[in-house]
Formats: sequence, C-alpha cells, structure tokens
Amino acid sequence: MTSRRINPIEALANARHEFGEHGGVNMSIEASTTFTVMEANTMPAVFQGEHGPDQGGCYLYGRHFNPTVYALGKQLAALEGSESAYCTASGLGAISSAVLQMCNSGDHIVSSDTIYGGTFALFHDYFPAKMGIHTTFVDMSDLDAVDRAFGPQTRVLYIETMSNPTLRVADIPALAEIANKHGAQLIVDNTFCPLMVSPLSLGADVVVHSLTKYINGASDSIAGAICGSEEFIGSLMDLHLGSLMLLGPTMDPRIASNISMRIPHLGLRMIEHSRRALYFSQKLESMGLDVSYPGLESHRDHGLLKRIGNEPYGAGGIFTIDVGSAELGNKLIDTLQNKCNFGFMAVSLGFFDTLLSCSASSTSSEMSDEDLEKAGINPGLVRIALGYTGTLEQRWEQMERALALTGIIGS
Ligand SMILES: *Cc1c(COP(=O)(O)O)cnc(C)c1O
Repeated sequence: MTSRRINPIEALANARHEFGEHGGVNMSIEASTTFTVMEANTMPAVFQGEHGPDQGGCYLYGRHFNPTVYALGKQLAALEGSESAYCTASGLGAISSAVLQMCNSGDHIVSSDTIYGGTFALFHDYFPAKMGIHTTFVDMSDLDAVDRAFGPQTRVLYIETMSNPTLRVADIPALAEIANKHGAQLIVDNTFCPLMVSPLSLGADVVVHSLTKYINGASDSIAGAICGSEEFIGSLMDLHLGSLMLLGPTMDPRIASNISMRIPHLGLRMIEHSRRALYFSQKLESMGLDVSYPGLESHRDHGLLKRIGNEPYGAGGIFTIDVGSAELGNKLIDTLQNKCNFGFMAVSLGFFDTLLSCSASSTSSEMSDEDLEKAGINPGLVRIALGYTGTLEQRWEQMERALALTGIIGS
C-alpha cells in the first residue's frame, strides 16, 4: 500500500493565491470568449498550443481554455493531489469526456455495477449504441470477479469511491493493482467523498467529480471536473482528438468563479456533514432501526474506509434507513418534509439542507427490479443526504417526531 498521504487542505491553501485584476482578494472573472494576439505572426504558434499562457503567450478561445476555469481547475488539482485538472459543464460531461479520451470504438470497460444512474445509462445503453464501446458490470467487492472481467480490449476500470445508495466503499488500492496488471486505467468518481478519500494517492489514474454536489454545496450550479496527469488533461484539449475540445462540455467562467468561493470552506462543511450523519445513524441504530452508514462499526466497509480515508473528514453526509416498504418510505419522507420541517423530498446530495429520497423509485430507477434486488436496493430504502442547517438537537427532535408520526417507532 502506498504511504504517500497528501494533506489536501494544505495543498489547497497554497493553490488559492489568485489575485483579482485590481488586487481583489478573489480572482477576477474572465468573461471573454476570445483573446487578442498581440502580434499577427504568433497566431499559428498560439493555435498549435505552442505559445499558451504558460509559455508567455496568450489564451486562444474560451472552449479551449479560460483563465478563470483554469484557476478553478488548479484548486481541484490541489484537492485531489493531481498534476493537473480541468472543469466541465457537468459531472456527466466530465465522466463521458474522460472515458471517451481513453476508449476507441471496439474497446471495453469494466465498471462497478452500482454507479450513478446517468453513468450506468451512458455505459449500458449510449456507448454500445453510438460507439461500439461495451461495458461489463461487476460487484467491486468481488475482486476475483473484477479480475476475470478484463479482456484484451479493456482500457478502463470505472468505480465510485462510495456507491449510491448502498454506501459500499471501493478498495481502491486493490482495484488499482488489478487495473494496472491488465494495462488499463482506473477512473474513480469521487463525488461522494471529496477530502474524505484521495483516490490518486491510493493508485487511481484519474478522478472525476460532479461539482454539483458537495464541492459546490449550495445546489445552485451543475458542474464537473477531471483530475489527472498533465499529459492526460492536455490530451482532452487536443484540436483533433480532444474530448473536451470537440464534444464541448465547457464550463462558464462565472460558474467557475462561484464555485471557487465555496472550496475554501469545503473542509468545514464535510466535517459537519459527517459529524451529524454519525450522530443520527448511531441514534437510529440504537433504536433498532435498519441503518446503513460507513461510519458505523456495523457497516461492512467501516474498517476499509478507516484504512483508506483521510482522518478528520469522517464517513460523509449520507446514510440510509430501510423502513421495509415503499409505502412507509414515502410516508416517512413526506412527514419529514411536510409535517416536521426536516429537509426536502428531492434527489441530489451535498446541499446545506437535507435532501430525502426513496432510491429504488428515484435515483436508481434506471435499474431493473432484478438488478435492484441483487444490489440490495430495497423498495423501503430511504436515502438521507444530511445537511447542517439548524441545531443538531432541533433536527433530531424533528426526526424522532416523524418516526413516531409514521408509526416506525412507538410514540
Ligand atoms: C450527480 C452525480 C453525477 C452526475 O453529475 P452532474 O453534475 O449531475 O452531471 C455523477 N456521479 C455521481 C456519483 C453523482 O452523484
């Protein structure tokens, strides 16, 4: 196992020295889509990427490169400990671009069988239909099955650090070793675990993020990022074969500026999400409810997360309760929102307020009933993406009241 444990908060503090145009304490927003070349004869070199801003030249065009988006990319590179990073218009834009940069038509992907619904549809339906890229889905906790799924055309092993909504943790060091042995690249979607887990220090090749969730933290922007080597990030901008350049999931610089101002308090937010989720899951478990949270000793991957996780950030803000039936699950989230003022019935996560959903009929509805059952996503499974507004005592009282009102606990 690798021992190089970066401290992402220290790296971020060093990366955030981007002054505004007039000496502002925040970086300026570069809104221009096109940039002046000072001498006509430098235009060809700028266009070939031989005379960019890092070589004393200038920027070319906003889809290729924007300084504000680039500055946010540097913050994300610091967060994940990568050489480089670039941001995209959405998490799915980051995922599709990163995977397509590594796969040509006829190539093969080995993927976790419990991944974000949109990613599942992309691999399961879109890639084979449009590009002849096929995916084998495997349970990532069965390392032998993962190993057996590789073939001569396998280019990518694709996983999520923590699966949704089953909250299984991927053994990134072991999976990196398997990918490496087969000459494939390991891509990790770290959306659920920013700061908590640093996949690149554990052997992953590329990290993708939906910034829409914890990193932005306010449920007001859709955005994504790709973190990896300088060579890989550069290849995404290639004028002939670059996925970001040619598919064009370009981030708006105004969004980049907004998100860059949420990153300095990401650490504080993650610690509070985790502290509250641990408190709630411990209390609910002690009442005899069927709770799943990787911070609980009863969780199958508690030890694994302790081993690969970064200490102060805990086990994240998401836990699930299985209340036995879809009817009771719906009744619970309805009561929490409409009678107890506890959160919102909405998909997504990483918000400052609590978001409540029944996974089987919402974020995992791309899966068949059989696949849902196999993955352990029962109809009565309620996902709680816990926020940090209000006091902990007030929120717990609201939760207890909802459990009593729905008859899940005796009142
Ligand atoms: C939301 C999410 C995505 C997709 O991100 P968008 O920003 O909505 O495109 C991908 N992976 C995970 C784990 C997510 O939660």
